[in-house]
Amino acid sequence: TNFDDADLEPLLLENIKMSGYRVPTPVQKSSISYGRAGRDMMACAQTGSGKTGGFLFPILNESFRKGPCEPQGGDGRAHYRSRAARPIALILSPTRELTSQIFDEARKFCYRSWVRPCVVYGGADIVGQMRQMERGCDLLVATPGRLVDLIERGRVSLSNIRYLVLDEADRMLDMGFEPQIRRIVEKEDMPGVDSRHTLMFSATFPRDIQMLARDFLKDYIFLSV
Ligand code: AMP
Repeated sequence: TNFDDADLEPLLLENIKMSGYRVPTPVQKSSISYGRAGRDMMACAQTGSGKTGGFLFPILNESFRKGPCEPQGGDGRAHYRSRAARPIALILSPTRELTSQIFDEARKFCYRSWVRPCVVYGGADIVGQMRQMERGCDLLVATPGRLVDLIERGRVSLSNIRYLVLDEADRMLDMGFEPQIRRIVEKEDMPGVDSRHTLMFSATFPRDIQMLARDFLKDYIFLSV
């Protein structure tokens, strides 16, 4: 089966084809259908499995279909005054290299849509990243440490998050990011597990990853590819 049979939004289908993809990988096929059903997902998938599309396709398919959302909570005027970005999708990944790769893919698939992707990571100029976010930020790809910094500076609000992705979760824990990840996911303005759609990817599924899945996901599909 090719992407034509996946019942995707026309613009997403067009952008996927423009990227040269013809056939969804197994993780992409599963995530598109579970995404449509609104199910959380824990996927054991290696790099090369097409896991980036595995989370971008269900997120963008649903986002293109639903269109931009009204800001949640508060009275709108507060939002107007605030300089905080309010992404609907947040993708956490361990390194600058990986966040950049995810961003490059996201940019292709968001082409000509209302979804504006952004990327932030440590070790680079934070002022430039804040400016980039001020131009619009619907889908944010971030390393955990830099995101905590931007949240503390009032530059990112999590209140509109509908989709949360933890990519290469095992690598993020190996790098010592668990406290930052917990601070982000357990932040008071982050929509709870019932009001967001959470996808987690990891090459391995050891005990600490099982605990994260237990804490961050709801009634999840477990996928091993
Ligand atoms: P990933 O596992 O997401 O890092 O993807 C590995 C490589 O496969 C990347 O170069 C992708 O651009 C490519 N890729 C992902 N999905 C597909 C697909 N459905 N068809 C062709 N290439 C793909």
